[in-house]
Amino acid sequence: MKLGQDGDYVAAAREGMGNPCLQGSLRSLQARYGKGALDVWKTLPDPNLRSRVKARRMQTLAHLDRVLELLSQGVEARGGQVFFADNAEAANGYILDLARKRGVKRVVKGKSMLSAEIGVDAVLEAEGIEVVETDLGEFIVQIAGSSASHIIAPCIHMDRRQIGRLFADKLGIPYSEDPPTLTQAARKALREKLLTADMGLTGCNIACAETGQISLVSNEGNIRMASTMPKLHVALMGMERVAATLEDQRELLQLLTQGAALQKLSTYVSFVGGPRRKGDPDGPEEFHLVIVDNGRSRILADPEFREVLACIRCGACLNICPVYGRIGGHAYHSPYSGPIGAVVTPLLHGINRHADLCKGETLCGACRDVCPVENDLPRMLVALRCKLAYGDPGWGVRPHNRLEALGFKIWGRIVGHSRLYAAMLTIARALQRPFVGRNGMIGPLPGLKNGWTAGRDLQPMAEQSFRERWRARQNNNPATADNSRETRHGR
Ligand code: SF4
Repeated sequence: MKLGQDGDYVAAAREGMGNPCLQGSLRSLQARYGKGALDVWKTLPDPNLRSRVKARRMQTLAHLDRVLELLSQGVEARGGQVFFADNAEAANGYILDLARKRGVKRVVKGKSMLSAEIGVDAVLEAEGIEVVETDLGEFIVQIAGSSASHIIAPCIHMDRRQIGRLFADKLGIPYSEDPPTLTQAARKALREKLLTADMGLTGCNIACAETGQISLVSNEGNIRMASTMPKLHVALMGMERVAATLEDQRELLQLLTQGAALQKLSTYVSFVGGPRRKGDPDGPEEFHLVIVDNGRSRILADPEFREVLACIRCGACLNICPVYGRIGGHAYHSPYSGPIGAVVTPLLHGINRHADLCKGETLCGACRDVCPVENDLPRMLVALRCKLAYGDPGWGVRPHNRLEALGFKIWGRIVGHSRLYAAMLTIARALQRPFVGRNGMIGPLPGLKNGWTAGRDLQPMAEQSFRERWRARQNNNPATADNSRETRHGR
């Protein structure tokens, strides 16, 4: 899936909520990992680790040009090549050109959300090049013709019965819903692809400017194979995924694996900085690092949103989000789902176009509490909503709903004038009377208000406002009235 595909958020959310299999998977995912990450943060030996790492991330982002230059020099010094791509087209063009020149027929991929963001698979496949995902979850969604619905657990929307039927159909094995049997079948199918691939295409978890190396974490070992077995290794990296020092990289990797899967360390952590050198037992003959901007510079330049680039894509915010936990990842129509997707997708691909994403979150704050780098996603969601309400020429945002904006403007005027407000209350009370039922509540309303009242009763406005009651109380009770006068004079 290419980032920012158009889709109906509400329809996809409804579909997700009506899918019992997805609901069961999301419930167990959130029960297992959601609060678990919060517990991990509470028991960290260094309680200041997260805030210190965040401060270092922001410092690195403030000097990103210099840090990337150092990284690039380090990679080139080891014999690797670095390409800075301004956008998806440039990155895809570079990779395709390389594949053509080297006569690549098959590409094996290690999980990379950036590759989904820029849509490189479709570009290579259009050229007749076979692209094979080697991460088990990504492999499953690829052969199912589906797309990832979680940053870390891409096929969370499928259960083992569905996967069993899929493998029987696509891999020609007898139906089984036994996870080890299914894993073995995938392993067998993928092993042959890995052994015969011409190019390995991976992502990059965190690069390090000090050492000139990128790091890749996985629990399956597939990324290590994809990055060492083919003659050509291309790593795709979002320009923000870099640490200045080895110590920063170490701390970020620690927080990444703890936030993602409550693990102290992933099963495999690889450091790659160039092609195979003389005496190395394995490794590619060529290493290319493609550093992609694709809208990130614009985010970096805006102090209101720069913080979102501190994200290390651990997925912890998805595991705790009440909205993601109900609607699932496909409703976001982006490789980046959940609260991080609700912020980053509009910023990368159009705030108006993805208005539903930032408006759909609850602002409960759980994502901020669980984030290993303490990203304040609710603050950024409010900032995005503010742009949608009033427009922002700098970001090319037009007011999302002019009628709503006008309504709030009028409302602002009314609440700013007590007499106007009192008059509005009198009118509204009169208007609501025909809708108040015998139980004293307002039932389903016609037209626009139906969205509020279709599923719940509405408490009608009180016959007397607080100010009216207060005034009446003062007038009826001379002692209170005297006290009140004294209080006022005392001020
Ligand atoms: S915003 Fe924080 S919790 Fe969410 S994916 Fe990024 S680093 Fe993880």
